[in-house]
Amino acid sequence: MIGETYILENFERALENGHIKAYFQPMLRSFTGEVCCVETLARWEDPINGVLSPAEFIGTLEKHRLIYTHDLAMLESVCRHYAGTVSAGKLPVPYSVNLSRLDFDEPDIFERITGILGKYDVPASAVHLEVTESVLLDHAEGFRKTFDRFHNAGFRIWMDDFGSGFASLNVLKDYDFDLIKIDMMFLSSMNERARTIISSVVSMAKSLGIHTLAEGVETAEQVDFLRGIGCELLQGYFYAKPMSTGELEQYLNAEDVKAEKETDRAYLNNIGLLNVLSGDPIGDYSRNRNKAVGSQPASRKSQYPLALLEFCEGRFTFVYANDDYIAEIKQLGFYDLSDAEKQINDSSKPFYSGTIKQMNDSIKLECAVKKDYVIGDIYYSLTIMFIASTDEKTMLALNIRVFCSDGIEDRFEEINRYSRALFYNFDLVNILDPDRDRSRQIYSNLPFDTVYGFIPLRAGIKEFAANEIHIYDRDRYLAFMNFDTLDQRIDKDECSFVQQPFRVRIPDDKYVWKLIRITRIPTSELSCYMFSMQRMTPADIRLVSEQLP
Ligand code: C2E
Ligand code: CA
Ligand code: CA
Repeated sequence: MIGETYILENFERALENGHIKAYFQPMLRSFTGEVCCVETLARWEDPINGVLSPAEFIGTLEKHRLIYTHDLAMLESVCRHYAGTVSAGKLPVPYSVNLSRLDFDEPDIFERITGILGKYDVPASAVHLEVTESVLLDHAEGFRKTFDRFHNAGFRIWMDDFGSGFASLNVLKDYDFDLIKIDMMFLSSMNERARTIISSVVSMAKSLGIHTLAEGVETAEQVDFLRGIGCELLQGYFYAKPMSTGELEQYLNAEDVKAEKETDRAYLNNIGLLNVLSGDPIGDYSRNRNKAVGSQPASRKSQYPLALLEFCEGRFTFVYANDDYIAEIKQLGFYDLSDAEKQINDSSKPFYSGTIKQMNDSIKLECAVKKDYVIGDIYYSLTIMFIASTDEKTMLALNIRVFCSDGIEDRFEEINRYSRALFYNFDLVNILDPDRDRSRQIYSNLPFDTVYGFIPLRAGIKEFAANEIHIYDRDRYLAFMNFDTLDQRIDKDECSFVQQPFRVRIPDDKYVWKLIRITRIPTSELSCYMFSMQRMTPADIRLVSEQLP
């Protein structure tokens, strides 16, 4: 540890020589993974003692009232960096700077800070101010005025280390901070209680219209959790440590790092205020937007199926979906989210036009739009709420509820009860899976000698034709069972099946006419078919025998 005397004797010179530098640590937006801001952190690169961390000198500077000079010098470095980036033809990311509570003792703080920004032509929206709640300990009166002046000038004011002190909640009550940085202490012990607290802080902040950031993110598990509860911004060693200007430039140029586009920022900020943990996120969001009552209490485990769907260049993309949403869409028959995404984007299906229509209604009416749909005996209601848009894209919040006409259990029981009668219509039902060259028997009342399901599908078909189909019908049967042309034949008739009568062998080497049908089973991954064999009425048989040799 460096002594106080050393710091006091060398501070001014270090500042003059540019040894006290601004380092930058990126903050990433949790659901895009893009860098949306960098925090400025001081580093003293001492020629004798190496790099000193703020913990080694900030305290001393505060004690001796040198911190104001220091913080303004950091701000100047930031503005120089901003101006340098702009003149290099690049887009700067916004910065946040740390201000000591003692800085607010200085009567000219507003003029000094805006003066520095003005000198480098930096807009107030590009520099966010981080202050801790301690600022209110002895400045409650003065701070109010300064806070409002900065706000009115277009600065964002962030509360640092939220939850580390005693007064965090009280401060939120009286000041409309733009963002709270949840103290890293909460993440350091990621147990169930910590998770509960973090979730509550996030949903409380959202119901107040305040953005949220988690500091000290170090593991992928923490990232998953924070993204799941809708914490908007993430900062920590998991992504990057504080870096020098050179390192930052390298970092931002790396292939896998993307900086957020300026034009997306307001859009993404709006989306960030949606409280995914609320019992009624869409309702909350529209109430907040219309500045009416606040939110319903958040539940720890989300119970509300919620997804965020982005519409861009004619395509929908899910950017978020909670577990309950995924459970609902599985009930609708989708495999997973990407399956649902595929179907929604299939413009030949009604999902696509339906979603577009609901989106446009929500934009026009400026409220959530709910619609009921029916597929078979399942019906579902889909709520779509327009959240935000840019010239290129639109973000929607979706809620879905799936209902069955009666309880799903009852349905299964009923189907079971009557399935025997249903099967009585058939002599044989098989499921054919040509992609994997397999078949599986579902039902049979025909006493064939061979169990065709145990041999590969194509070989089984040949053998079946040879053993069980009348020689007159054999070639026609093989052509009928040709999978290379099957889909084409099915499509041609615009039914989901093809069927033909064939003479099939029964015991005692007799043959009877059977109607064989191949029905396409729509699943999204494999093409599967149902093979069924039915008896025919004497009248049908007479008709067929007249036409066939
Ligand atoms: P802070 O504002 O809470 O800054 C975050 C601190 O956490 C930084 O320490 C950062 O390096 C560290 N950190 C970032 N990610 C992680 C992580 O994943 N895990 C862990 N364990 N730590 C992480 P740093 O740079 O040593 O700064 C310490 C404190 O010094 C800052 O805390 C801030 O209160 C103060 N400070 C730094 N620069 C300035 C400044 O220019 N002016 C003033 N007034 N205070 C400053
Ligand atoms: Ca900070
Ligand atoms: Ca902090």
